[in-house]
Amino acid sequence: MTDVRAAAYDIACAVAERLSDPAIVAAVATASWSACAAARPSEWRAAWLSDGHPGIAVFLAEMAHVDPRWLPAARAHLAAAATHLGPFARLPSLHIGMAGIGFAATAVSRSNADCAAMIAYCDRAVRSGRINTADTTDFDVIKGTAGVTRYLLHRADPGVRAHVRALIRHAQPKKIDGCAVPGWLLPGNALTLSRNDRDEVTTGLDLGLAHGIAGSLACLAIAADNGVDEAGLVEAIDTIATWLAGWYGRSATGNWPMAVRLEEEIAGGPADSPDRAAWCYGTPGIAAALHLAAAAVDRPEWSALAATALDKLCANSADLAPVDGTGLCHGWAGLLHIVRLVDNGPVADELASRIVESYDDQESFGFRYDGTHGRAPRDIPGLLGGAAGTAAALLAYATGEPPRTGWDKALLLR
Ligand SMILES: [Zn+2]
Repeated sequence: MTDVRAAAYDIACAVAERLSDPAIVAAVATASWSACAAARPSEWRAAWLSDGHPGIAVFLAEMAHVDPRWLPAARAHLAAAATHLGPFARLPSLHIGMAGIGFAATAVSRSNADCAAMIAYCDRAVRSGRINTADTTDFDVIKGTAGVTRYLLHRADPGVRAHVRALIRHAQPKKIDGCAVPGWLLPGNALTLSRNDRDEVTTGLDLGLAHGIAGSLACLAIAADNGVDEAGLVEAIDTIATWLAGWYGRSATGNWPMAVRLEEEIAGGPADSPDRAAWCYGTPGIAAALHLAAAAVDRPEWSALAATALDKLCANSADLAPVDGTGLCHGWAGLLHIVRLVDNGPVADELASRIVESYDDQESFGFRYDGTHGRAPRDIPGLLGGAAGTAAALLAYATGEPPRTGWDKALLLR
């Protein structure tokens, strides 16, 4: 093991230690959030896979595959999540609902009988939950159809086919004032572009993996790879991937834009949206989705584009300027994990070194969100934006093995 890999492994263990007590984690996260008037209220949500106990349970369950002593802590976080369901018990979503709890339970489970009642309860809640698959604005990974579909694929649930059909329908073109536009156009004022502390709402197309069409593409590719054989599936993958490939290089920095306004789509670009360089938005997440699509339908040119785009991004410090913190969602850990999945070149070592150097033994969770991109600095423990996700990416880097819990399935990376 190289020095960086050894340090990454040691940091993953140190973060696990800091996250092992659910009561302490909740107290620190709540205090940090409360102290920060500017924090958005979504940063600590105890029952969310993205921010709360379920995601920490997933990370500790991953650690338990290396050292079983972490399993009781993973179970304790899962139990803590179950006591905080409240209104989320009616939501099927992957990151803010019952699919997330079910996902965490499958990660913690060590036999068919282990956690079986909780998993069955979550499965029923997901199947009966209210995801409006007819709504073209409701296809995202965090709260919508793509995330729920990924969970149902993970569970090999036969109900997944209806969700896949909904994602296929979203890929079919529609007409606006006689012009053919992609079917995933967000109508009315449903596209939000944040810029300089103000939001612009408009009609357009969201390219991101977290909330946009790259998430649908990743989900459809994973469905195909899992043997789902729905009419129109391959065509939908081709439609979305070809469209995304066509927008590469047309942001202000020559990468993928976050979003495209309707008038930019009709004019053929360029796009004037802000840049990100993250899993949630920007080149890394889109490259990951194209890489999955390439493997699913044997289109190596998409995988080559994904690798080229990641190489260009990682070679330019200006392109990397939007990387925000060390987390999976919009920080260095997400970029590291995607680079390892798509390309796995030497740049992964550089990215891992950068994260290792950010670790601070004095911080409550080892990594503190520094707030350099406008959001308030605070202690974030969770999987998507916090220390658990950063440590999970470091552990995967250190071991060189695919995550045994499949935590990256929750990010639609597998
Ligand atoms: Zn993000």
